[in-house]
Amino acid sequence: MREAEDAFRRGVRSVLLFGIPARKDAQGTSAFDPKGPVPSAIRALKTRLPDLVVMADVCLCEYTSHGHCGVLSDGAVDNDRTLPLLGQAAVAYAGAGADVVAPSSMMDHQVAALRRALHDAGQEDTLVLAYAAKFASSLYAPFREAAGSAPSFGDRRSYQMDPRNSREALRELRLDAEEGADALMVKPALPCLDLLARAREEHDLPLAAYQVSGEYAMIKATASQGWCDEGAAVHESLTAIRRAGADLIVTYFAGDLARRVGRGVR
Ligand SMILES: [Zn+2]
Repeated sequence: MREAEDAFRRGVRSVLLFGIPARKDAQGTSAFDPKGPVPSAIRALKTRLPDLVVMADVCLCEYTSHGHCGVLSDGAVDNDRTLPLLGQAAVAYAGAGADVVAPSSMMDHQVAALRRALHDAGQEDTLVLAYAAKFASSLYAPFREAAGSAPSFGDRRSYQMDPRNSREALRELRLDAEEGADALMVKPALPCLDLLARAREEHDLPLAAYQVSGEYAMIKATASQGWCDEGAAVHESLTAIRRAGADLIVTYFAGDLARRVGRGVR
């Protein structure tokens, strides 16, 4: 609440929430517990800051004991058994008052699963921001350390995208648009500017880019050594993401940026 109120005071008008549960298990049950960390935070935020747009990330990896984005069958991530759990999580977040749910697990058909679950729960007005092209990136490491969500075995390359294959990423964007996404996301941001630009040409939906924890840490670390000016580097990287075609940018620099430019940053 303190972080959100401080950011709101500086002019940040939207937040994207991730949950760190008290207890993790194989099914990631805290992800869809209506009393879990994210629904509780949404209710508190919407009560204190009704004008704040609240988005909730929908995935299991912060909640599973094994750190994978879905439940396991025979030691592998089970796409189709994961989908209803993601749907339950989206319904829990929408029920708590989230304006936007953002599926990030890269399970096939996750957007359709959320749409169906939200419809069945009478929550069809909740928007779906799809992590449509999410690459298996080394730059997620600082987030995983903070969330304690590094996979306990293997990696996420069976469901996240191969950075070498841009045509597959474009196909994922197309599929999510067809499944009813309200906005499409590319992640990470700076290494994927070519895809953002191509997606901009192809899609009318709002496009989001996620400047991930490793992108944030690179700028912070470089600036802390006195090797670049942090404010200029932040401005340059965000401008490049915007120039490539992003309408929305998820960034850990939002609060700093709002303070620097001195007016509303959504
Ligand atoms: Zn995940």
